Amino acid sequence: MTTALLTQSVTKTYGLNSGIIKAVNKVSVSVRAGQLVALVGPSGSGKTTLLAMLAGLLVPTDGSILIEGRDIGKMTEAERTRFRREKIGFTFQSNNLVSYLTALENVELMLRLNNKYDKTGKARAKELLTRLGLGDRLDSLPRQLSGGQQQRVAIARALIHNPSVVLADEPTASLDTERAYQAVETFSSLIHEQNRAGIMVTHDLRMCQYADQVIKMVDGEVQRIIKDRQEILEMAASGKAEFQPLPLLEAQPVARRNGKVSVPLPFASNTVAVPSI
Ligand code: ADP
Ligand code: MG
Repeated sequence: MTTALLTQSVTKTYGLNSGIIKAVNKVSVSVRAGQLVALVGPSGSGKTTLLAMLAGLLVPTDGSILIEGRDIGKMTEAERTRFRREKIGFTFQSNNLVSYLTALENVELMLRLNNKYDKTGKARAKELLTRLGLGDRLDSLPRQLSGGQQQRVAIARALIHNPSVVLADEPTASLDTERAYQAVETFSSLIHEQNRAGIMVTHDLRMCQYADQVIKMVDGEVQRIIKDRQEILEMAASGKAEFQPLPLLEAQPVARRNGKVSVPLPFASNTVAVPSI
């Protein structure tokens, strides 16, 4: 298996009036193709910020990110946008589906953007949605779908264009436990079968059972990396939803951490439907 994603001491600091916040501090991780990583940690530990940098949506203050051996920090903005569109799939906590497109059209959108919209692509989009249990809801608009169904459409959209790296921020935040298990199990199977590198942020340690590696973040730093299968299973078995999920960012007030003011990420709102396309 080859390394699909590698970060070297990646750091993101924010300078605020009240001081500097190290949202992500010297994080070095590597993810191979065909591997799903669960990224866990309390609210404010830097998970979303790290994911946004991996997606090329936020530029690191320091350190580097290599995807398939290419340093995304050394690309021009235009190159990075194109690279992201082709190589990266993502789904955020608020699923960002396009409200006037059907489930199928939302998934096909990623193919159109990559000039891969043809008969085969269309068939694959249907197949993927069917695999995710939405075969009979292809023509439904997002508002006609439940939160869980919308989340599964978002998962299909993150996978359809054959990205090397798939990033998911709290993909199960709006699902009940039963559906959350199903969604993550299918997501994990697809990552393995299709040989993609997946990183999934979750507040729910039970979901780690589907992961090959667990990265625990605390205060912007990697506290632990767990690769041992037995240990991962024990953690998943012992854990309930150990970490509280963040409320959807739109509703999140400005919070204080260690006496420093922190604010929600600017891009994680519904206005960023499919970033930079
Ligand atoms: P998590 O996803 O683990 O809950 P985040 O990555 O959202 O954590 O945030 C990590 C830290 O960085 C928090 O203290 C947060 O308030 C702060 N932060 C995130 N985005 C910004 C920003 N744009 N400006 C200032 N601080 C930020
Ligand atoms: Mg977050």
